[in-house]
Amino acid sequence: MTKSWKTKLIHSDAKIPEGYRSLTTPVYRGSTTVFPSAAAVRDTWDQYRVGYTYGLYGTPTVLELAARVCELESGTHTILTPGGQAAISLINLALLHTGDHILIPTSVYFPNRKLTTHLLARFGVTSTFYEPTIGAGIAALIQENTRLIWTESPGSITMEVQDLPAIVAAAHARNVLVVLDNTWSAGVLFDAFAHGVDITMQALTKYIGGHSDLLLGSVSVRDAALYQRLGAAQQNIGCAVSPDDCSLALRGLQTLAVRLSAIEASALTVAKWLAARREVESVLHPALPSCPGHEFWKRDFLGSSGVFSIVLKPGPSQEQVFAFIDALKLFKVGYSWAGVTSLAVAYDIGRIPGRPPYDHRIVRLSIGLESTDDLLADLEPALQKLPA
Ligand SMILES: *Cc1c(COP(=O)(O)O)cnc(C)c1O
Repeated sequence: MTKSWKTKLIHSDAKIPEGYRSLTTPVYRGSTTVFPSAAAVRDTWDQYRVGYTYGLYGTPTVLELAARVCELESGTHTILTPGGQAAISLINLALLHTGDHILIPTSVYFPNRKLTTHLLARFGVTSTFYEPTIGAGIAALIQENTRLIWTESPGSITMEVQDLPAIVAAAHARNVLVVLDNTWSAGVLFDAFAHGVDITMQALTKYIGGHSDLLLGSVSVRDAALYQRLGAAQQNIGCAVSPDDCSLALRGLQTLAVRLSAIEASALTVAKWLAARREVESVLHPALPSCPGHEFWKRDFLGSSGVFSIVLKPGPSQEQVFAFIDALKLFKVGYSWAGVTSLAVAYDIGRIPGRPPYDHRIVRLSIGLESTDDLLADLEPALQKLPA
């Protein structure tokens, strides 16, 4: 068939050499996936079972990242979501029904708390918040209609490390699933499935991305039936992820080990330095004995990452805490930690029910890849701004 130049724009016969081999995964963008025949058309989400059907369920770039995260977490299936919070909501929407009950720690990532108390409550799912240090005591809170126990270890901001094996034992004795937000560990410093967890999620936005330039999440499981429920829900919800973001995350993965070990060493040095300061009441870093649940970190974790909190001694007003943060030059102020830039954020947790009485004296730090000495030199004069 002879083609007009207009048709050639869409249906080209141009040729390029074959056999190109790169070290990187190509970025496959696509909504439409072309089927070989009219009869082959399917709208099935499980691309491993039926082959590629639609961009919503992942192009090869997306499935490559999912498979790589799955491999690192020793799961059997991983589904990617547009962010960590989307991973949390996918799990809840896939597995819960009206009338169900969930248990959730008071230390949980705040948007997860809000999803529970607002949207899930609106759909008739009830919840009980529990102390993150509860351990085997969780058994007393399990009801007839409890379906899920959320865990997050260490917890957001207050950093409590949870006794996962004890919670898993109590949950499984009553046929309840345990979900872990494993973001702090980047999915590699805590082997969730080896400790009995049923479902893990991560904000890949954090250490896997590692450069503060993308939003992605993951949900991993070992059980094929759970994978079917999660995949079907994802199809219903329609949360696709960008192959370009996945390509950046695949790049991030390659340097995860070196970034994490540099960040771990620097964060530990900064945490120990802060622990010796007169302005600091305590340092909530899982690798230090001053952190609640430190013994579980020591027993269960393979290392530590770069996020921890400090509690200032009573005295400074919230404005004075803000002035301390604003005096920092290298530490920037902002959400979404685990990039190469160190961050500091002051929280007032006095308004969150069930949190320790730190009020506005708690500051969370995310250590990046700057020189540790420079970070200490940045902290020193800023701390001196605090009242004696
Ligand atoms: C950031 C974060 C999330 C949410 O991730 P987004 O990609 O920002 O949606 C979930 N859990 C924890 C513990 C986080 O720190």
